[in-house]
Amino acid sequence: MRIEVITGFPKLLAGPLSESMLKRAQEKGIAEITVHDLRDYATDRHRTIDDAPYGGGAGMVLKPEPLAACIEALQKDGKADEVIYLSPDGEQFSQRIATELSLRERLILLCGHYKGIDERIRSLYATREISIGDYVLTGGELPALVVIDAVVRLLPGVLNDGESLLTDSFQNDLLGAPCYTRPVEFRGLRVPEVLLNGNHEEIARWRAAEQEERTLRRRKDLLEPS
Ligand code: SAM
Repeated sequence: MRIEVITGFPKLLAGPLSESMLKRAQEKGIAEITVHDLRDYATDRHRTIDDAPYGGGAGMVLKPEPLAACIEALQKDGKADEVIYLSPDGEQFSQRIATELSLRERLILLCGHYKGIDERIRSLYATREISIGDYVLTGGELPALVVIDAVVRLLPGVLNDGESLLTDSFQNDLLGAPCYTRPVEFRGLRVPEVLLNGNHEEIARWRAAEQEERTLRRRKDLLEPS
């Protein structure tokens, strides 16, 4: 899968993309993730990417020309499956959307900053707009990383133990079961006996029951028909 991120602040993405699962996915050639600096597409000497909002008011707006030039340059060799603008007013990101996006071959992610991006870029290029939650962040870089992480870990071959995905929260609309590791007793709390007996069927039944119980207690809404 190919993922291209457009941002005026590329350094914000560097660390997370070069560690852990995202690093491995790229090394294995399963995900090709590139970060494009919007300033490289500015046309003035100062590499300006923002300007004051029409109508006045606080905050700057990302200019349309560098964004359009970058999106068009990236798509010279063919269209991306989705051009996604990360935005607080977009559809709420979920495991379902992550799964859907993991089936695409090529995504372009647009990160806003300041007050956001010129509305005409949204109208002309965005095929989808995604919010990671009802709060406002400084830029689209962290939301882009959230989307990339959730999508890439679903790609076949990325996780060493692919089965682990199936027991994570939100797969089958359930929360995950509790997990424990050594020691058997920690600060007076023991690991549930069932996990120690080696009976895999019994363990699977216990985990399924825990998932059900935890979902009912914490996120009953997940069990309601949509
Ligand atoms: N003026 C915008 C509004 O009222 O919706 C908020 C702009 S925000 C300060 C700057 C950028 O951060 C946005 O353009 C968007 O790309 C990104 N952003 C902030 N919060 C986000 C969220 N919850 N989900 C996705 N992107 C977000």
